[in-house]
Amino acid sequence: MSDYKFYEQVNKNFDKAAVYTRFHPGLLKQIKICNTIYHVTFPLRRDDGTIEVIEGWRVEHSHHKSPTKGGIRYSHKVDEDETMALAALMSYKCAIVDVPFGGAKGGVKISTRDYSVSELERITRRYTYELIKKGFIGPGVDVPAPDYGTGAREMGWILDTYRQLSDDLNAEACVTGKPIQQGGIRGRTEATGRGVYFGIREACSVKADMDKIGLETGVEGKTFVVQGLGNVGYHASLYMTGAGAKMVGVAEMEGAIYDPKGIDLTALMEFRKETGSIIGFGNSKTLPSNKDALELECDILIPAALESQITGDNAKNIKAKIIGEAANGPTTADAHDILKDRGALILPDSYLNAGGVVVSYFEWLKNIQHVRYGRINKRFDESSFKKILNVIENISDRKFSDDEMLDLSHGAEEYDLVDSGLEETMITAYQQLLEIRNEHKLNDLRTSAYISAINKIGIMYEQMGIFP
Ligand code: NAD
Repeated sequence: MSDYKFYEQVNKNFDKAAVYTRFHPGLLKQIKICNTIYHVTFPLRRDDGTIEVIEGWRVEHSHHKSPTKGGIRYSHKVDEDETMALAALMSYKCAIVDVPFGGAKGGVKISTRDYSVSELERITRRYTYELIKKGFIGPGVDVPAPDYGTGAREMGWILDTYRQLSDDLNAEACVTGKPIQQGGIRGRTEATGRGVYFGIREACSVKADMDKIGLETGVEGKTFVVQGLGNVGYHASLYMTGAGAKMVGVAEMEGAIYDPKGIDLTALMEFRKETGSIIGFGNSKTLPSNKDALELECDILIPAALESQITGDNAKNIKAKIIGEAANGPTTADAHDILKDRGALILPDSYLNAGGVVVSYFEWLKNIQHVRYGRINKRFDESSFKKILNVIENISDRKFSDDEMLDLSHGAEEYDLVDSGLEETMITAYQQLLEIRNEHKLNDLRTSAYISAINKIGIMYEQMGIFP
């Protein structure tokens, strides 16, 4: 366990940014503090008949908007401090990308590898029941989502448990990241990694920033290293390699590998599935420890595992010119300063990994509207596009083939709309961060991101009339 108190790290970043805002210290304190903290313990009957006590938390950081929103993490490292930090980050993240939710986070202190699927189901259902009992879940109250160690399967169990105990018409909106058949949305699974890619692409398109760190614009041709090949790390790597970037290093629990010629992501995933490890893949070199991957020669480092990975101890050895924080809190405050001082471009977690909550917001909207995106307008759009194409054919010599007609008249499906909404959000938010950075003459996107969040949340409180 790291010596870094995660919540303290988040608050250090907050304080650094708060001096650039105009709010009263009392209001800043209100924004910073966690509003409600629920600590719960409950018994689990294990498959062998023994009883074990399970410990969990749900923290609602800010109620300036309802519902609150945030993932549920299953990890043996979960504790109250971590859950508070992650809940606070959720408030700031939602504000940065203009998602109208307050921040929350949940955690259960278990290592998923130590439990069978049916034990995990019992834990998830009982944890949900405890949240329901205390009013810590509901479509308009607090809406969980997946995080480290959880996914669509767990979200499905949560919905089913909630439904059994509630006749709420909007019950499906009590949790996001669900399987499609249970009201989930196409594009949610890959959303965080896809957002990471959009954010990196946006950063790499700013010529002045690339000139400063001695790189060409664009993602194509850049080398990157990823730490953690889970949901976020895998999908971020998938879109990065799809755009022509070269993956040269990977770290996972079992170790780390390096190949300057490039690592084939799909082949690596298959290899890991077969052998249970990334070690020994292709012509890659094995590194002494998985943390060594962070110090590899590369253009972009994507930490996508857990917090406090880049610290005051190893920051000086990190060679990447761009740090794309896919995980929450991977860089401690002192490490941030070391990286910044040597000129690295840090794309902060509160912006870069917001894709998950953006698409969760779309899922929640879909659930409360009770209609799939594209269902109403897709056919109408297609027939309008066909009419326009027919007019073009009639007034010109241009004739469209059947394939061209199909392609050009295609009406947007749910996935198309979700993806375009996510892309738009990540681009707009990045432009806002650049504006703030220029306005305050900062050389720091993390502080810019916090300023953005504090300003948006602060104004909400002012409008509520709580503060003069
Ligand atoms: P995940 O459980 O799917 O994957 C995490 C991966 O990291 C696993 O494969 C694990 O084996 C690996 N890992 C753990 N410790 C490691 C280490 N020391 N070195 C190398 N690899 C290690 O989790 P995820 O959902 O991908 O979440 C990863 C991070 O992204 C977390 O910080 C999470 O809070 C953040 N995040 C996730 C989402 C989401 O939608 N899932 C959204 C925003 C932020």
